[in-house]
Amino acid sequence: MSPPRLEIDLGKIEGNARVLVRRLAKRGVAVTGVTKATLGSPSIAGALLRAGVRSLADSRVENIETLRASGVSAPVYLIRCPMISEVTRVVACADVSFNSELAVVRALSAAARAESTIHGIVLMVELGDLREGLMPEDLEHAVGETLRQPNLSLVGLGTNLTCRSGVVPDAEKMAELSALADAIDARFGCTLRVVSGGNSGNLQWAFSGADTGRVNDLRLGEAILLGRDPLDRRRIGGLHIDAFTFVAEVIESKTKPTMPWGEIRQGAFGPVSCARDRGPVRQTILGVGRQDCDPDGLEAPPGVEISGSSSDHLVVYGGGDRSRVGGEMRFKPNYSALLRAMTSPFVAKELKTELSRS
Ligand SMILES: *Cc1c(COP(=O)(O)O)cnc(C)c1O
Repeated sequence: MSPPRLEIDLGKIEGNARVLVRRLAKRGVAVTGVTKATLGSPSIAGALLRAGVRSLADSRVENIETLRASGVSAPVYLIRCPMISEVTRVVACADVSFNSELAVVRALSAAARAESTIHGIVLMVELGDLREGLMPEDLEHAVGETLRQPNLSLVGLGTNLTCRSGVVPDAEKMAELSALADAIDARFGCTLRVVSGGNSGNLQWAFSGADTGRVNDLRLGEAILLGRDPLDRRRIGGLHIDAFTFVAEVIESKTKPTMPWGEIRQGAFGPVSCARDRGPVRQTILGVGRQDCDPDGLEAPPGVEISGSSSDHLVVYGGGDRSRVGGEMRFKPNYSALLRAMTSPFVAKELKTELSRS
């Protein structure tokens, strides 16, 4: 496939998921595989399911519809709280959605009723990261209201930390979630089936030996896809960090000064930090930019230095032989670059399927 392209090693993704499923099973925690960074790729979803994830999750209705259209029959959760305007599509494609607003919960029940189906609800609890979730003191009322809706089933509780404010999902936060689950069960005489403790940022807690309490599910995206722990972006032992490779083609390569000349104002994306004068250098331009990936999230190959970017150009120094016009350079994307590349219509996706078992 011609560049720009994202090479995807399904065997490495499956291997990563298998390791995490096995390790977490020993802690009594099941894995929900998150496909949102992959535009709901059915091939990647298939790799996750082969590895033993219990269910799939995505933040977008469109992606879940893609999974269903490709024949995925496993349980799928919508993990972004639904918009009221999409509840009919939600109940048609997702078994369960994560919720924090009673107006949406009621609308989901009405939509499920119209479709003669029962829709599952996980109520999200705010534990300090200040993204979605009911304040803990409002949870009991929300549970009562949810249980009163005719076409809903209350599946459990969830929380999400790390993503917005970087709040760590530690033993204290997880104990708080467990205690809330116990309190709800006691108050309503029910058993909350799923207590979903969080995302890849929860792995240090999960493997710390701390009591997992009622937490029996984690929703994992980045750890499976990139093999890294989002709390410090370090490699997780035994996982592949190179399942994805972003490949770009050289469109210009010339010796130029390192310093721009003329009166300097803002660049296309705001103020430009000024370069250090290194005299003339071999400057290479690749035919990719911010429409294809997040240039700040690319790790350059050894000997190559990323110098700047715009919508359609990535400027690098170095690269030797690979910097000739028509040559290809290979980069390792971080989560942000991966998300952008997977969702860019300009980037071809090349799936490699040979299994590299770990
Ligand atoms: C994105 C997301 C996840 C997965 O996060 P990773 O850090 O990729 O594991 C889990 N839960 C929710 C609610 C999310 O939005």
